Amino acid sequence: MMRPISRLFVAILLGFLAFAGTGLVSSGRADPGFDKWVSDFWPVAKAEGVSRSIYDAAFHGLTPDPEVLEKARFQPEFSTPLWVYVQQRVSEKRTAAGRDMLLRYRVLLDQVESRYGVDRHIIVAIWGLESYYGEVLSNPKIVKGVIRSLATLAYGDRRRAKFARQQLIAALKIAQHGDISLAGMTGSWAGAMGHTQFIPTTYQAFAVDFDGDGRRDLWNSPADALGSAANYLSKSGWVSGTTWGYEVVLPGDFDYRLAEDGKTRAISEWKKLGVVRAGGDNFPRSGDKAALLAPVGAAGPAFLLLRNHFVIKRYNNATAYSLAVGHLSDRLRGGGEFSRPWPSAERALTADESVELQQHLTRAGYYDGVIDGKIGPASRTAIRAYQAGRGLVADGFASLELLKVLRSG
Ligand code: CA
Repeated sequence: MMRPISRLFVAILLGFLAFAGTGLVSSGRADPGFDKWVSDFWPVAKAEGVSRSIYDAAFHGLTPDPEVLEKARFQPEFSTPLWVYVQQRVSEKRTAAGRDMLLRYRVLLDQVESRYGVDRHIIVAIWGLESYYGEVLSNPKIVKGVIRSLATLAYGDRRRAKFARQQLIAALKIAQHGDISLAGMTGSWAGAMGHTQFIPTTYQAFAVDFDGDGRRDLWNSPADALGSAANYLSKSGWVSGTTWGYEVVLPGDFDYRLAEDGKTRAISEWKKLGVVRAGGDNFPRSGDKAALLAPVGAAGPAFLLLRNHFVIKRYNNATAYSLAVGHLSDRLRGGGEFSRPWPSAERALTADESVELQQHLTRAGYYDGVIDGKIGPASRTAIRAYQAGRGLVADGFASLELLKVLRSG
């Protein structure tokens, strides 16, 4: 688990300060500025078609939630590297629980799969990553009233105000439509709702009433939630009958620049470049287009990513997320761990260490770009040249190991 102690400490400290400041951590207190914001926002909501009665019911006695602003302000010192994220999320426990869900909801998943053409293992993997198969929905520490969270952000968080205003309007309209009561509309501090953690605008565009009771209920109906996730992927371009991608093994002399441009090539072209499937199986269709991902260079697994990987990213635009969904879906289907282990390091380079890396590369004559701690294409080109000069695999990956080599001259 890579949660630095300092991060936990900061969270506790912020919780204490909020407690000291308001008397009660979660209840907040009357705030005349917020009350004015609520009355100023009414004409905006009205123009979007929100009724006065829903608006009044939603904001009656509402105060801003200080916890939401703390969470919004919190900037972790270290962001979780992809390989730690994937390992944490695709745990044995989450895999076992997902296999139970496949059995328990077998009939429902048959129906969802046949209507939307999206692989059930992907749907269940998304469910597992978004809400631990619905388990987080009953956790009072995580689940909050969506209207209150979004109004707090719209009022008090400059960075997210525009997003929050848009989501707040959508949330009010969902309640007005009668899909869920105001009190039942719970979600994360940022407004992600229900088993599949849809934000309100995603809900409006993609939620479906799969169980046919007349309401789109992502909170209490697994059928609606799983149907909605499948509908979202289907509308985002899911290709039926194919998977998300494959773990692959690259040849020792592989040109890692090919992993950098993100260009898709036919599987047959990748095969000509020496790329093979991990485990020795053949690729089912050599005409499929795929992009290469080598997230830790030569030090860990590499992947050929098919179109469906990028469809999953429409759900949550992070490569680590999409890779975790794909891998969990394979594990749910009975597959094992990746054939090559991830690096043992629990973190990536910090910004300061990245600056130091660029400084070393500059001194050694390999880099003449800006020293900004951002490892982009120019930095990776310099790393590859340095690695080639030292007889190392020229993968261009900025690792702690490489920094140690550079430090030692
Ligand atoms: Ca329903």
